[in-house]
Amino acid sequence: MIITLKKEAPQSEVDRLYNDFEEKGVHVNIIQGDNFNVFGLVGDTSQISDRDILANEWVENVQRVSAPYKLSNRMFHPEDTIVDVAGIKVGGNEKIVIIGGPCSVEGSEQICRIAEEVKDCGADMIRGGAYKPRTSPYSFQGLGYQGLLDMVEAREKTGMPIVSEVMSADKVDEFVEHVDLVQIGARNMQNFDLLRAVGHINKPVLLKRGMSATIEDWIMSAEYIMAAGNPNVIMCERGIRTFEKYTRNTMDLAVIPIIKEKTHLPIIIDPSHATGDWKLIEPMSLAAIAAGADGLIIEVHDCPDKAWSDGAQALKPEKFKELIRKGKIVAEAVGRSL
Ligand code: PEP
Ligand code: MN
Repeated sequence: MIITLKKEAPQSEVDRLYNDFEEKGVHVNIIQGDNFNVFGLVGDTSQISDRDILANEWVENVQRVSAPYKLSNRMFHPEDTIVDVAGIKVGGNEKIVIIGGPCSVEGSEQICRIAEEVKDCGADMIRGGAYKPRTSPYSFQGLGYQGLLDMVEAREKTGMPIVSEVMSADKVDEFVEHVDLVQIGARNMQNFDLLRAVGHINKPVLLKRGMSATIEDWIMSAEYIMAAGNPNVIMCERGIRTFEKYTRNTMDLAVIPIIKEKTHLPIIIDPSHATGDWKLIEPMSLAAIAAGADGLIIEVHDCPDKAWSDGAQALKPEKFKELIRKGKIVAEAVGRSL
């Protein structure tokens, strides 16, 4: 971190700032210029906020040289993290994982039927929401705990791990008991109490990007989970809000190489929420594989026009199967398997 002090800064203030930083455990190198003093902070500056330093009236400018995240930072952990989800490995050069299933669990018969179908198509895990974050309080809110038990039944019938979204910290125990991969939804990406709560568990976490989150905001949320003790975080891009109206969200594919460069965490793509349109799922999935994604999470429903939520962005099983067939070809072209 480089801090430029105003030339009028009294020596007593320069000394006080110097001591403050040294007390925080960083070493301060001082460059004495004719017109200003520059502090070069060396060491772990992750606990120092650049914005807080600007509160000092004698500070002219603050520049961060290193990123504010530490545990997720590739610089301090060069090898890829491979997250184990009940035996399925995600990340590194492992097989690209395919997660398929409905937006919402609609009952045990529905989730077990769709789970069998996505398994036959070649999926590795089943998704299904039991607690649903809906924009309208009048929309279907999910089956709650019963929905989780229905997911467990689908796992027993298919042998596939299950993925579901936890919406509040007081429900985390239910997820620890029943779910293999605990999803944090876009709307909760900065629910810091919830992030800390899933940081204390021994189940992997799927962290979706907030709809208006910068990449750094998103990585800092992963950092919350890791700092609380859980290293098993999978990043998930699900589209961001832009001015564009032809798609539900704007799918930001550049995050794949960026997350891989900045962090050592696996990243998967959700083309259903990123586009909102089943017709766009296949081309966006193939693009994501080509760009290096470690997996895909796709909404699949055998009767999308009767789905209780997000039917317009769900693939029918036969389309899902075709996507996997094409995905294998693209994966092979970029040196991965699917
Ligand atoms: C979901 O996966 O069903 C969901 C609500 O996703 P997101 O949080 O990305 O909107
Ligand atoms: Mn959905």
